[in-house]
Amino acid sequence: MTSKFKKLSLTKQILLGLFLGALFGLAIHFLLPQGNFRDKFLVDGLLYIVGNGFLRLIQMIVVPLVFFSIASGAISMGDTGAVGKVGVKTLAFYFLTTAVAIVIALFWGRLINPGSGVDLLSIDASGFEGTEAPNFVETILNIIPSNPIAAMAEGEMLQIIVFAMATGIIVGQLPDKLSLLTRIIEEGNTFVFSLTDKILLLAPYGIFALIARTFAQLGFDSIMPLISYMFAVISGLFLQFGLVYLPLIFLFTRLNVMTFIKKFIPVATFAFSSASSSATIPVSLQATDDMGISRKVSAFSIPLGSTINMDGTAIMLGIAVIFVANLYGIELDMADYINVILTATLTSIGAAGVPGIGAVLLSITFTSVGLPLDGVALIMGIDRLLDMARTVTNVAGDIACTLVIAKTEKALDLDQYNSTVQMASDEF
Ligand code: ASP
Repeated sequence: MTSKFKKLSLTKQILLGLFLGALFGLAIHFLLPQGNFRDKFLVDGLLYIVGNGFLRLIQMIVVPLVFFSIASGAISMGDTGAVGKVGVKTLAFYFLTTAVAIVIALFWGRLINPGSGVDLLSIDASGFEGTEAPNFVETILNIIPSNPIAAMAEGEMLQIIVFAMATGIIVGQLPDKLSLLTRIIEEGNTFVFSLTDKILLLAPYGIFALIARTFAQLGFDSIMPLISYMFAVISGLFLQFGLVYLPLIFLFTRLNVMTFIKKFIPVATFAFSSASSSATIPVSLQATDDMGISRKVSAFSIPLGSTINMDGTAIMLGIAVIFVANLYGIELDMADYINVILTATLTSIGAAGVPGIGAVLLSITFTSVGLPLDGVALIMGIDRLLDMARTVTNVAGDIACTLVIAKTEKALDLDQYNSTVQMASDEF
């Protein structure tokens, strides 16, 4: 059995981990009686240690991975003009796809009108504290680290990106191409690469435990009254994938989109189980490597996307606004919709790609259009499930944009894109 399992490709092992984890979690939830064995030993003991142990291993490499791969990418890019061009293109794509996402959400929400006819009292609302909207000027200023070591310690992604870019550009301009600094960065890069490969071998087990624990703890009672909202969000996420990303890839690259989907599966599985774009960075970079995308583009665009590009979260925000407005019988006008588009696009820039951040953005968006904050509490019961789903779309948006930019920048190895090896770790 073990050897048969090991013979499967890592991608298949991961998928199996996800599937079996979901089944195991459901079995725990519905078949095992509450008590110490189920709750303390299994759910908060064994599954928690294995799942979060794996998640922490992945998180352990995020900061060094982002730093070394961006710095080494910037060294090899040589001139700052190329760095700037990729940067501008990436930002443009990210803003555009997020704006499209929120517009799709508002149209889709208006079309299927989730929440109309639902009785408010049927939903269990646990308290939710609102959050102040971040000051836009501060958000922009915050991109520059006043202390790069603190930025790394706090995992401040945008600040780490800025410092790594600056380091790479300057080291790349040093007269001695084999300087000690260059070698440290290049070897640091190789080291984190190999570490990532090794850690990912544990992914099937980690994902099994993460998913099993989530399903074992899911509040299934909250699902029924919110089913129309859940349906609207999940179908909206699919619309973004099918009507925005795949056509974008096809139009700009003419590549086979099925290959993209196949190579995206391990990333989707990890994003779904971890509900964190930031923790998914190492897996996304593996996938972009397997797609033949040069690290010169991906090392920069993937970490950047994990914080500033949250299309799935934008979809949830748009649908939630319409759902709650319907629940409370509040009429929204054009100015409100424009307000939602602006708030959702701008607030998501500074938000880290970590679990549950969408709920914080939601309270900011609700405040901006005058919807009751109790509305956020209403949908919190099932937010984890939607968080998992929207994280997949968030990451899909990062990789789709990266692929398009790599193709247009001639930073794509077509043979590698079309090769059947799905994960570098499959070769171990
Ligand atoms: N968990 C999401 C992410 O990491 C953010 C959110 O809460 O919507 O991309």
